[in-house]
Amino acid sequence: MALLGAIADDFTGATDLASMLVRQGMRAVQLIGVPGASDPVPEAEAIIVALKSRTAPAAEAVAESLAALAWLQKAGCRQFFFKYCSTFDSTAQGNIGPVADALIEALGCGFALACPAFPANGRSVYQGHLFVGSLLLNESGMENHPLTPMKDANLVRVLSHQTEATVGLVPFATVAQGAAAIRKAMTQLKEQGRRYAIVDAVSNDDLYAIGEAAAHHALITGGSGVAIGLPENFRRAGKLDAVTNPASLPAPSGQTAILAGSCSRATLFQIGFAKNHLPTLELDALATPDAHTLAAQAIAWLDGKLRTTPVLIAASAPPDKVAALQAKLGREAAGVLVEEALAEIAEALVARGVRQLVVAGGETSGAVVQRLGVQRLRIGAEIDPGVPWTFAEGTGPALHLALKSGNFGGRDFFLKAFGMEAAQ
Ligand code: ADP
Repeated sequence: MALLGAIADDFTGATDLASMLVRQGMRAVQLIGVPGASDPVPEAEAIIVALKSRTAPAAEAVAESLAALAWLQKAGCRQFFFKYCSTFDSTAQGNIGPVADALIEALGCGFALACPAFPANGRSVYQGHLFVGSLLLNESGMENHPLTPMKDANLVRVLSHQTEATVGLVPFATVAQGAAAIRKAMTQLKEQGRRYAIVDAVSNDDLYAIGEAAAHHALITGGSGVAIGLPENFRRAGKLDAVTNPASLPAPSGQTAILAGSCSRATLFQIGFAKNHLPTLELDALATPDAHTLAAQAIAWLDGKLRTTPVLIAASAPPDKVAALQAKLGREAAGVLVEEALAEIAEALVARGVRQLVVAGGETSGAVVQRLGVQRLRIGAEIDPGVPWTFAEGTGPALHLALKSGNFGGRDFFLKAFGMEAAQ
């Protein structure tokens, strides 16, 4: 039953990939962290192991990714996917290069394509350069990311700095010729001794062609976009039966809330829009640089507010405020402080009857989901591209979660998640 096994370097990324596969007719389950040896294999054609390894020390990220790969191999998966962000989020040390190197070695495949393009969300790759909308990655706001500032849009160069292997390019002129040309170009690069090919893509048609070209690759690396063509490969090979409504989830219930820890431009806009419509608390981590005290302030504020409309609690701040907190505490400690505060608030929300929770931010979602003890998420229908509702299966309260990568979603995302229409 399990066909595609994926390893994602953060939790929202895992959900984003799972959502893409569901839309293409696979049932998908996201596992939080590397499952135990005796954990059951979920009933799904795609299994995505969500790690929180994007900014972990490289050795830790590699070890966890290899453990996830071993579990997925044992679960019967036949092809593997290393999912990272569509903005190629990584630190100077990695972890995209080190993890991909280790997976390639473990699989003995010698080569993998790398394509973060996700045109539906404005991410395209041209001549190896990553664009966010019309802007180069390093001018898109990503250069100010609190944890993974991206200061170079040339992905051949960025990936080359993270691996001892050499990185080639399959340029758009080749991609535009379709699957056979892409396959040939990748084979040539592999024969020339390249371990990676950044593959250009500016449309879903390009991504379908890349997916088809990679049908026999043991490992594919990229954003969720490049997974769009993979289910069709399995279908063509007679391995994927038609699934009726792969996105179906139990009906939602309970109170509703939104937690935001992303400082990405899209999330800041979404908060700005939603606060005109929803009870909103903006946490000031600079004024109160203590996770527990911040959480206590939020919990006190909540009193009597959990009624019919969702509440919004946001730690998100613009670059100057983020920089001020980081100058005070250090980059990592500042991130951890806010993540811990939001995780504690999430726990309090669930204790007070919240059963539908939106979380904005990849690292933030990781912290929240881990604190809530969620082990697996079944993937439902999308709210906006890359952000589905999910349902926490297994132990714990019946909980619907939407984990939003910071830069994803339209301006009205937080209202749309709860079916609330608002004048734009
Ligand atoms: P995104 O999906 O946009 O990358 P993440 O949650 O992955 O969002 O990363 C945002 C990081 O910024 C988190 O570690 C979060 O704790 C941190 N953060 C949130 N608010 C602030 C703030 N006001 N000051 C400093 N760091 C913050």
